[in-house]
Amino acid sequence: MICRICHNRKGNSGLTVREMEFGTGEAFDYFHCPVCHCLQIAEIPGDMGRYYPENYFAFDRTGRLAKHPFRQFIDSRRVAAYLRGDSLVGRLASMVSKPLDYLEWVDHAGINASGRILDVGCGSGRLLLRMGLGGFSRLLGIDPFIKEDIRYPNGIDVLKKDIIDLSRESRDRFDLIMFHHAFEHMADPDGVLDATARLLAPKGCLLIAIPVVDSYPWRRYGAHWRGIRAPRHFFLFSEKSMGILAARHRMTIDRVVRTGNRSSLTESALYEKGIPSNVPEKEKKIFSRQEILSFDRDVEKMNRNREGDTACFYLSLNPQTEPIPHPS
Ligand SMILES: [Zn+2]
Repeated sequence: MICRICHNRKGNSGLTVREMEFGTGEAFDYFHCPVCHCLQIAEIPGDMGRYYPENYFAFDRTGRLAKHPFRQFIDSRRVAAYLRGDSLVGRLASMVSKPLDYLEWVDHAGINASGRILDVGCGSGRLLLRMGLGGFSRLLGIDPFIKEDIRYPNGIDVLKKDIIDLSRESRDRFDLIMFHHAFEHMADPDGVLDATARLLAPKGCLLIAIPVVDSYPWRRYGAHWRGIRAPRHFFLFSEKSMGILAARHRMTIDRVVRTGNRSSLTESALYEKGIPSNVPEKEKKIFSRQEILSFDRDVEKMNRNREGDTACFYLSLNPQTEPIPHPS
C-alpha cells in the first residue's frame, strides 16, 4: 500500500469499512497513512455507478428555483446588503432568515455578482440556482453523474462532464471554483487539481469543502466514522495531506474553516451500533436525553479545539512556485 498523496510506503495501516448509507453492509478496505494522515480506499471499485442510485440526494431536480420572483427579489437584496451594505430590505430579511451560506464563500473569494463561478460535482445545480436568485449571473455547473446536460430557463447550464474534460475543452477562467462534498468522491485528486489550476483565474479562489480525518469523530469512531461513506469517499484528507497535494499543483491554502455538529457524532454512533443511515427516523431516536447532552458537550469541545470533521479549504494559485512534477 503506497499513499497516493505523499507516496509513503511504510506503516500504512489497513481497516475494513462497511457501506452504511444504504445499509448494504458491503465491506471495503481502506488504509491510513502515518505520514500525511490521509485515509484512502485501497482499491477503487470498477463499477461506481451502482453506488449512486437514481434517487441519490444530489440529483433531485430543482428546476422551480430557476424562476422564483419572490426569492429573487429578497435574495438579491440580501446579497447587496452583505456585499455592499446598501439594502435595508436585504438587511431586515437576513435578520429573520437562515443565512445564505454562499455569501461567506464569495466574500472570501473577493468577488461580486459579476464573478465567474464554477461548481464542480454540483448534482442538478441547486446551489447555482440559489446564487442565480441572489443576482450572480456567470455560473456554470458540471457533474459527470447526471443523466444529461441541464439548461435552465434563466441561462444557468449544468453539463454532464468532469473537470478534467472541461479543462481540456474550455478556455474559460473562473474567479471561484467550488467543490462542495465532491472532491472526496474523485479517484484522481492530482489530475483534478491540475485541471482546476488551469481553469482558475490568476487571482481566483478555489474552495474545497470535504470531511477531514484529522478530527475528533475519526479518533473516536475509527472505521465507524460517518465521514468515510464507503465506498463513495475515496480520500479522507487531513489538513497536512491537503497541503502536500496543493503544493504539488502550485497552490497555497489560505484559510481553513472547521465545523462539526451533533450528527457528526450521532450518525457515527449509530454506525457503531450497526444501524445504517436509511433506517426510519424513529428507529434512530435511540439515544437518551443524557446521551444527547453528552454529544452536545463533545460537539462544543470539538469545535473549540478545531477538531470538527468538516473543513472548508480556501486555496489560491501561487505564481511564484514552479509546478512540482508528479512522481512517476
Ligand atoms: Zn501519506
